[in-house]
Amino acid sequence: MFAPLRLIYPVVSRRSGGLSLGVDLFPDRKTCNFDCPYCEIFPFPGEPPFRPEDLDRELAEFFEVEYPAFPPDLPLRDLTLSGSGEPTLSPHLESALALIRASRDRYVPGADLVVITNSTTLGHPETAALLGRYVDEAGLRIWAKVDGGNEDRYRTMSRSPVPFREVVEGILSFSRDHGVIIQTMLCALDGRGPSEGDLSDYADLLASLLHRGARFLEIHLYTQARPSPEGRTSPIGDRELLTASDLVSRRIPGVPIRIFGRAGELSR
Ligand code: SF4
Repeated sequence: MFAPLRLIYPVVSRRSGGLSLGVDLFPDRKTCNFDCPYCEIFPFPGEPPFRPEDLDRELAEFFEVEYPAFPPDLPLRDLTLSGSGEPTLSPHLESALALIRASRDRYVPGADLVVITNSTTLGHPETAALLGRYVDEAGLRIWAKVDGGNEDRYRTMSRSPVPFREVVEGILSFSRDHGVIIQTMLCALDGRGPSEGDLSDYADLLASLLHRGARFLEIHLYTQARPSPEGRTSPIGDRELLTASDLVSRRIPGVPIRIFGRAGELSR
C-alpha cells in the first residue's frame, strides 16, 4: 500500500498545453514574499514540511504506478516547481531540481522542467547561478512574473516589501544570459481591470528591458481561472486580453505573445 501523494499533483494546465506535474515545496504552510490579491492558495491545514526523500519516493510512485494508467492522449508536458509559495525561497530548491530532472530524464525525456517564480530572487547571485545552470544543462524554463510596469501597479498586485526596481533589475540581469518566459496576470481588482496607462507602462517596461539586453522567449498574458480566497479579483474578458496583447505586441514586435483567457488559450 502506497502512502498518498502530497508533494506532487498532476493538473491539466492551460499554459502548459496539457498535463503538468506540479511539485509543492511548501506543504506545511504558504511561503512567499508576495501577497498577490489573486493568489489562489486557500488556507490549508499544515502538513509535515517538505523533505527531498519524500519527493523522491513520490516521483517514483507516480511514474511507476499512476502515470502508466493515464490516457495516452494526455502526455505529460512538464514537471513544474510551483505550489504553495515562491519555490526559489525554499532551502530545498537545489535538491528538488535535481530530483525532477532525474525523473524527467528517466521517465518522460520529452517533458520540460519549469520553475514558476515571482522573479524576486532572479538577481540573487546564488539563486541565479543555480537556475542558470539548470537552464543551460537541463533545458529548465523560467516563467518569470511581471504583473505591472510601474511602481503603483506592482505594489497593488504584489503587496510586497521587495522594491520594484530590485525585481526589474533581477529579471534583466538573469535574462541577459538565460532567456525567460514572462508571465503576467491581467485581472480586475474590485471590479476594475488594468488601465490603458498601466498596460502602456507594462509594454514600455518590456521594451526597455529588451533594449537593455533582456531575452524573452515568450510573453504569457493570462487572466484568473479560479477563485481566490480574498474574492476581490475577477477575470477580464477575452476581448480585453486581446486588446492588451495588441498594445504590447506593437511595442515588442518579434516576441511571441500567448494569451490565456478564462477558458483556454486565445488566438489573435
Ligand atoms: S507570487 Fe504566487 S504564491 Fe506568491 S502570493 Fe503571488 S500568486 Fe501567491
